[in-house]
Amino acid sequence: MTTTVTTSDLVPGVWPSTASRSADGVLEIGGLDVRDLAQQYGTPLLVLDEDDLRARCRAWRQAFDGWPSGADVAYAGKAFLSKAVVKVVQEEGLGLDVCTGGELAVALAAGFPPARLWFHGNNKSVAELERAVAAGVGTVVVDSFEEIVRLAAVADRAGVRQRVYVRVTPGVEAHTHEYVQTGQEDQKFGFSLASGAAAEAVRRVVTLPALELVGIHCHIGSHIFDTHGFSLAAHRMVELLAAIRDEHGIELPELDLGGGHGIAYTAADDPMSTADHAAGLRTIVERECAAAGLAVPRVVVEPGRAVVGPTTVTVYEVGTVKDLPGLRTYVSVDGGMSDNIRTALYDARYTAVLASRRSTAEPKNVTLCGKHCESGDIVVHDVPLPADLAPGDLVAVPASGAYHRSMASNYNHVPRPPVVAVSGGVSRVIVRRETEDDLLALDVG
Ligand SMILES: *Cc1c(COP(=O)(O)O)cnc(C)c1O
Repeated sequence: MTTTVTTSDLVPGVWPSTASRSADGVLEIGGLDVRDLAQQYGTPLLVLDEDDLRARCRAWRQAFDGWPSGADVAYAGKAFLSKAVVKVVQEEGLGLDVCTGGELAVALAAGFPPARLWFHGNNKSVAELERAVAAGVGTVVVDSFEEIVRLAAVADRAGVRQRVYVRVTPGVEAHTHEYVQTGQEDQKFGFSLASGAAAEAVRRVVTLPALELVGIHCHIGSHIFDTHGFSLAAHRMVELLAAIRDEHGIELPELDLGGGHGIAYTAADDPMSTADHAAGLRTIVERECAAAGLAVPRVVVEPGRAVVGPTTVTVYEVGTVKDLPGLRTYVSVDGGMSDNIRTALYDARYTAVLASRRSTAEPKNVTLCGKHCESGDIVVHDVPLPADLAPGDLVAVPASGAYHRSMASNYNHVPRPPVVAVSGGVSRVIVRRETEDDLLALDVG
């Protein structure tokens, strides 16, 4: 074993908890040298720090443990879903959100208890609803008037009384990228609170014997840093619970406040702690419930990015360095927008480090780009890397766990990278590398 020294380029919170530099300056994760991991598994490679993942699951669980009427933390699987991750999530006591038949299939294949699943989505097919009901999915979050009718018919045929939430859009504009805002009025998800659609959805659900309305749900967006949006949404959701009580004489026992908690992609990001987030929600829900004369409901939160995002590092190999004097330096790596679409899609900001050696060269701002046939194929804009960076060096990009592998594509027929979980000096492949044969197998022409 080499002795490890943590150097300041691995900012805690941006990098997973076991990331460190060895005495000779090489990045290690889970006690393993990234050069060895790259040698064994190839690049690009997603390295998932399993200890960090478990610690994050536990922090979320513990933050809501003291909720007066009980709480569920349901990991939003769309951030990154694999059987191994499902098992970790289950072992750590979390529930699980799925939004398609495909995500449901992964959860079931991993043996996740169906009663601990929440099924979301604005256009679930009849076939997906049938599978969910047949599998015994705990809660279906209904998102449209059509779905209410469809789900009631499916549950009826199956002879099941299906637990449901109504998805509400509370009219809150979270301060985040417009593609990931989901609380405001003008969008595809859910029933508007302001227009009365949410109240109307409740009216229809309660008349259907095959559906058991147990709660309401909202999710105001993704990668949110300020508490204001969450507080306003919680306030409006409790008002709706009170209105439902007044109209129907029922106090719904559950309130789902969604996910959306931001993470640190770079040292400039300062997300609130899980504990502060939980405490903030509790204060507002307790206060609003007291004012409305309601018992505090069981609460559900659905973090995705905040559970898995910071756990994973992408390791790439540098292939070319193109220096345009007075203009810019492009450093090309062996992946790109096929394994990280977030930079191109959301103009997301990342950091990167030289991972395979120590360099004493001065840092120089470069554009880290991919190998795809598009000039927007950028992994990291303007990142300081040592001026002697050269082909064959490994670079590592942290905060790659959420919406990287799950949004990966085969653009340019590039096979998608593997995910390797590391812990205590041991590595294991949890999603294997795709091969050209995998891709050709789909091409039956
Ligand atoms: C995407 C999503 C989440 C998770 O969002 P994060 O930003 O990853 O925390 C939670 N709930 C619903 C309904 C979602 O669509």
